Amino acid sequence: MFEGLSEKLSGILDGLTRRGTLSEEDVNLALREVRRALLEADVALDVVRSFVDKVKNRAVGANVVKSVTPGQMVIKIVNDVLIETLGSDAQPIDLDAPPPVAIMMVGLQGAGKTTTSAKIAKRLTELQKRRVLMASLDVKRPAAQEQLAVLGRQVGIDTLPIIAGQTPVQIAKRAEEAARLQGYDVVMLDTAGRTHIDEALMAEMVEIKRAANPHEILLVADSLTGQDAVNLAKNFDDRVGITGIVLTRVDGDGRGGAALSMRAVTGKPIKLLGTGEKMDALEDFHPNRIANRILGMGDIVSLVEKAAQTIDAQKAQKIAERMRKGKFDLEDLSDQLAQVEKIGGLGGIMSMLPGMAKMKDQIASANLDDKVIKRQRAIIFSMTPQERRNPDILKASRKKRIAAGSGTRVEDVNRLLKQHRGMADMMKQLGSAKRGPLSQMASA
Ligand code: GDP
Ligand code: MG
Repeated sequence: MFEGLSEKLSGILDGLTRRGTLSEEDVNLALREVRRALLEADVALDVVRSFVDKVKNRAVGANVVKSVTPGQMVIKIVNDVLIETLGSDAQPIDLDAPPPVAIMMVGLQGAGKTTTSAKIAKRLTELQKRRVLMASLDVKRPAAQEQLAVLGRQVGIDTLPIIAGQTPVQIAKRAEEAARLQGYDVVMLDTAGRTHIDEALMAEMVEIKRAANPHEILLVADSLTGQDAVNLAKNFDDRVGITGIVLTRVDGDGRGGAALSMRAVTGKPIKLLGTGEKMDALEDFHPNRIANRILGMGDIVSLVEKAAQTIDAQKAQKIAERMRKGKFDLEDLSDQLAQVEKIGGLGGIMSMLPGMAKMKDQIASANLDDKVIKRQRAIIFSMTPQERRNPDILKASRKKRIAAGSGTRVEDVNRLLKQHRGMADMMKQLGSAKRGPLSQMASA
């Protein structure tokens, strides 16, 4: 379904990666093309607008990290915004309620409600070991109830026996009771559709909802209908209230607009995709996988993610280099403490410094928790650059000033200095050893 959009977007973004630098004009031009591609894919106008704005804002504020080109950075941003637009996290069907959990399927005629009911039932039975009962509430089309029974037999799922002359609400109540008495975990309620939305249909859905109290109300929408599907979802949500969306016919040549707009317009998650007529043609909806299907640039995305992590490693490496030369001053200590804070623990930074297991123990024994780290950084911050580079000049009066400036006591300043001296001495020793761990590290 996403082929057309995918081809266009990857073409536009690929162009960006081939240039060393990017001007604001380059980015704007690319975004104009992205905008056009999204509109051509039938993505709702508001969604396109906010998509492009988000990418632009982030691209302007982005820190381009070394070893990544600006074009690659923009791709990563487009990818992130795509995932957000699609809903960020996968949202599976929620069965977290006292059994029997009712799942009500709603939507227009021919959208795929009956087919999807059986697909979901099959999946819940096979993958989640639930006992599922299906019931057709479609009393409009003569063969509708029989259609569900046939599918049920085909996939080995029980269906509620058909009793002629009952209303949808009566069937829903009977299904619930049968499920409770016979120990089913889940009841699928397959409702009737219409060729278009009308008041009678909505009123019927509200009535069934009231009677059956479903835990999930899934709107089944045909992805080939594009923005109509999105408007439909909005209507159903406003009138009946839905908990999620199943997009069907994703195997067809839809342009992708419905998938991209659904979440943003309705605020409700796409939970599943129907990908064919067969009973196992049902997929979980994973925003990150769909984004990758659309952009096809998973490699670049992971490259940028890795590069961002590498920056921290590079900084650590730089500190290690200075340590090796015996130049570990308070400035370096402050940098290192900042990293420790950022990474959120000593394990983080130490794991970036090969051969530092010993140091790790030492620092750990010095009891460097977050509060201590903050205090120590404040002390270093209150020193002059000269004092940081050459702590030996710190005599009583300076220490008093620093303690006052950092809201600590002179003892705290002394403790920090002593600790730093210990670390610096140890580093000097390690650094002067010919094939010590640090020299190995430097050549690694
Ligand atoms: P309902 O009226 O909403 O209950 O729709 P049905 O479940 O009866 O489906 C109508 C037709 O669409 C059937 O022929 C299904 O096989 C077909 N169908 C349903 N879902 C999909 C899908 O994801 N892909 C394709 N290609 N066909 C589907
Ligand atoms: Mg049906």
